[in-house]
Amino acid sequence: MSGRVLVGVKRVIDYAVKIRVKPDKSGVVTDGVKHSMNPFCEIAVEEAVKLKEKKLIKEVVAVSCGPQQAQETIRTALAMGADRGIHVQVMGKDYETLGPLQVSKIFAALAKKEEAQLIILGKQAIDDDCNQTGQMTAALLDWPQGTFASELTYEGGNLKVVREIDGGLETIQINMPAVVTADLRLNTPRYATLPNIMKAKKKKIACMSAADLGVDLTSRLEVLNVEEPAVREAGVKVETVDDLVLKLKDTGRI
Ligand code: AMP
Repeated sequence: MSGRVLVGVKRVIDYAVKIRVKPDKSGVVTDGVKHSMNPFCEIAVEEAVKLKEKKLIKEVVAVSCGPQQAQETIRTALAMGADRGIHVQVMGKDYETLGPLQVSKIFAALAKKEEAQLIILGKQAIDDDCNQTGQMTAALLDWPQGTFASELTYEGGNLKVVREIDGGLETIQINMPAVVTADLRLNTPRYATLPNIMKAKKKKIACMSAADLGVDLTSRLEVLNVEEPAVREAGVKVETVDDLVLKLKDTGRI
């Protein structure tokens, strides 16, 4: 393989932030909240950079779709070792309704434009928990997919992907070009070092709109209501199994 890899890097609310729902229940509060690169996207970037270090690919392109701040996420990917970035600017109402289908259409268009051989995405974004973008992108391009990857090897023109599935691991071999989605155990992403952060400032980020790629961002989904999870009742400590059984009987649970 000697081609180009596109890596999806999504800007999401940082995993350590306590999420608050807006009073009108239309979504979650994002203003003034710390954002970071989606953790599974960090794993995707690491895997792509490793392929480049092994000289199996020649270029890693980090792609983020979203408002202006998405460029910060791309910069992080560049500091981790990606070669250049593409920012597909999506703002306002379009950003509010941006979902896996719209993002997949963007990736499919970019894959053709950039003549990519591989797309590596996170297995899921921790804000919407959709786990759909990789699968939809593969379907739109009619490319093979290796989802939930915990090991990726390039062998004789094909990719061997070890997948995390219920109760074990599945190994598949897929032809290229392909879409791979990164699971938690694929690798441990590197930290961006200060010298690399400085170097990343010089790397190029191309900015374009979805319309430039011929993609219509119309969404067919409407969010009706977003609610906080129900508050959990405090637990009770019991000393023995007999006490536990008694308590369960008393509260009518058995
Ligand atoms: P999802 O299907 O929403 O759970 O997202 C899965 C993966 O698709 C993410 O980990 C990213 O790699 C990619 N992705 C989703 N949305 C975006 C976006 N707005 N910009 C760049 N990549 C994205």
